[in-house]
Amino acid sequence: MEQTQTNKIDIRSLDLEQLRQYFVDRGEKAFRGNQIYEWLWKKGAHDFDDMTNISKSTRAFLDQHFVINHIRVDDMQRSSDGTIKNAVKLHDGLTVESVMIPTPTRTTACVSSQVGCSLNCEFCATARLKRMRNLNPDEIYDQVVAIDQQSRAYYNRPLSNIVFMGMGEPLMNYKNVIRSIDKITGDDGLGMSPKRITLSTSGVPKMIKKLADDRPKFNLALSLHSAIDEKRVKIMPFNEQFPLDDIKEALKYWYEKTGTRVTYEYVVWKGINDQMEDVQALVEFCKVIPCKVNIIEYNSIDDARFEQAATKAIDMYEHELEKNRIVVNIRRSRGKDIDAACGQLANKSS
Ligand code: SAH
Repeated sequence: MEQTQTNKIDIRSLDLEQLRQYFVDRGEKAFRGNQIYEWLWKKGAHDFDDMTNISKSTRAFLDQHFVINHIRVDDMQRSSDGTIKNAVKLHDGLTVESVMIPTPTRTTACVSSQVGCSLNCEFCATARLKRMRNLNPDEIYDQVVAIDQQSRAYYNRPLSNIVFMGMGEPLMNYKNVIRSIDKITGDDGLGMSPKRITLSTSGVPKMIKKLADDRPKFNLALSLHSAIDEKRVKIMPFNEQFPLDDIKEALKYWYEKTGTRVTYEYVVWKGINDQMEDVQALVEFCKVIPCKVNIIEYNSIDDARFEQAATKAIDMYEHELEKNRIVVNIRRSRGKDIDAACGQLANKSS
């Protein structure tokens, strides 16, 4: 159980059975636990006093022993393209960011899994913040609920997709991320389809295998950026511990267990990975398991070493990948004017 500064227990660290048992131990009906659970997860109560079908005395009792560590959207910035970036205040005063990305047909939530990040990708603004702590399942879940509400308010439609591409490395906070997805997809939570969720990892081989063993129903994306070890290690220094051969082996294991293809995220930078040898290495990498490539635009983080490659280089990637029958999408960035795009999340407003 999660203890807070006040020594009260974070009530959402209890699962349904524990909550039911809690009431039985107090000589009450187990069903009380179900009611509270529904208020916490399905109805998103922020306060015990919101729980109108629970007696006043029980509510007061709950308030004495438990807290609801709800997130608070502290600041909301809206981009000219409709993208919204939320500064999300956590119960202990730390801040993470989440983003709502609308398109004509759908709304995507980009959520954070850690405060800061434990990895050190040179091109990512979040890497400049050290990892402070993992987010709890309810803190991830709350980001999704808040964006669902924003989507309903601004676009009259529920949230349709979720990507774990905010701050942090989701596979380094494995248990909590999986628990949050269970709640997002569960009937006792938001009931969303796992097919509409994508977890993005920088590539931690051991954890990709563990994930494969758990046979998730959601999608996996891998931030590749270079299929040449000597180059990847320069832009993603942790590649030293997790070389591409280990990642390939983990991906094969993933495909054997799940039978689902992986999406490779790839930014092309001028003078870093914009040559034919880079394209060819990617083509070879793509032969390991069925996959798809997303070429994403570089979002500047004020670092002179990195600059978006010329259109000619992107065209070369597109052409060569298609020639080899590899599915490739060229992605435009959203929300750049408010630093809400991939890799720009660094709590600038706080
Ligand atoms: N740690 C996870 C998820 C967070 S990053 C991962 O690495 O996948 C989400 C995506 O944004 C990754 O594909 C990452 O490589 C990419 N990214 C990071 N910084 C970027 C930048 N400045 N411009 C464009 N994409 C960036």
